[in-house]
Amino acid sequence: MEKDVLVMIPGPSPVVSSIKEQMARDIQAFGDPRFIKDYRELIVDLGTMFNCSGQAFPLAGTGTLAMEMAVANVTKRGDNVLVVSHGFFGDRFIEICQRKGLNTDVLSATWGDIIAPEKIEVALAEKEYAALMITHVDTSTAVTAPLAYIGQVVKKYPETLFIVDSIAGSGGEFADVDDMGIDILFTGSQKAFGVCPGMFVLWAGQKALDRREELGMIPEYYVDFTKWLPIMKDPGKYFATPAINLVWAMKEAAAIIREEGLAARAKRHSKNAFALHKGLEALNLRILAQEECRASTLSVAIYPQGIDDAQFRSLMWQQGVVVAGALGLYAGKAFRVGHMGNFTTGDMVQMLAAVEYSLAASGADIHFGQGVGAYLEGMK
Ligand SMILES: *Cc1c(COP(=O)(O)O)cnc(C)c1O
Repeated sequence: MEKDVLVMIPGPSPVVSSIKEQMARDIQAFGDPRFIKDYRELIVDLGTMFNCSGQAFPLAGTGTLAMEMAVANVTKRGDNVLVVSHGFFGDRFIEICQRKGLNTDVLSATWGDIIAPEKIEVALAEKEYAALMITHVDTSTAVTAPLAYIGQVVKKYPETLFIVDSIAGSGGEFADVDDMGIDILFTGSQKAFGVCPGMFVLWAGQKALDRREELGMIPEYYVDFTKWLPIMKDPGKYFATPAINLVWAMKEAAAIIREEGLAARAKRHSKNAFALHKGLEALNLRILAQEECRASTLSVAIYPQGIDDAQFRSLMWQQGVVVAGALGLYAGKAFRVGHMGNFTTGDMVQMLAAVEYSLAASGADIHFGQGVGAYLEGMK
């Protein structure tokens, strides 16, 4: 039999059984009236839930394709863009923009910290930018950007579109397209929505849709808003085959999120993260992100002296829990743990108990229960 493991990495997140059941359903034709109805409901639901008066596009592809779709539809070769990078995934925007021939300026934060909104404002005042790109939660550093605040800043520069990679945020950390002044927001199915990988949702506000019109013909094909808009309005039409079972799975995920409430869900995530950080710190692990900008959907925990990363994570796996290695400068020095979506307190306790065991087996001085206890105290 295959070994049962609890996957606590920063995506894919655990998939609950009602979502799994949707993945396992018998296939239907994409022209089946029942599927058309389901797809239409998902499109409308996602738009309403994230307060987007423009258009939600739930499409086949991973988060990276959503990044490309965002850039493709609102910029043209030679435009100035500003990338605000808080780590590895912020940096991914740089290459996407450069390949498109955009003049790409970058504000890079020290890993674990964020760029102050005041600094962003200074940059926006200096040059005319077609767009500003930022990650909501950077999955390499587990910092979160103050989107509402930055949205206020970007609003003062009407020519600049505000593009937010919320792949590791939306469905966990709160995001609201219209109220936060976001022009394009996107997420991936496998992160805080708790679905298998393979689908992304991109929300485009009216300003982004207008910018796309102004651009005329663009070189990109699959990700062109113009190709998908007629399908989003009438999912009975065909452009490219929808990921049928993923549409159903996302529909179930959206129903779970709607029932919990987006704001309540964000609160649950932040309470859990606060408690987890207490638990990890009680085990002498250090949280990479500065206290003021810690994400609630994942954490990067830096090992105490003397812990071997590969050995630690292999011990974790033997305990039935998977955590991820760290990236960049922190590779080998820290691990990343995801806590987003439909995880339970039981999952958290199991994960922390495995951390305690694996640290102890790696030679750390651990009193069993000290991490789990601090976590549970924090959850009171
Ligand atoms: C996971 C992630 C991505 C990449 O998404 P894929 O689905 O792997 O293509 C990009 N940005 C952030 C912030 C992410 O967490």
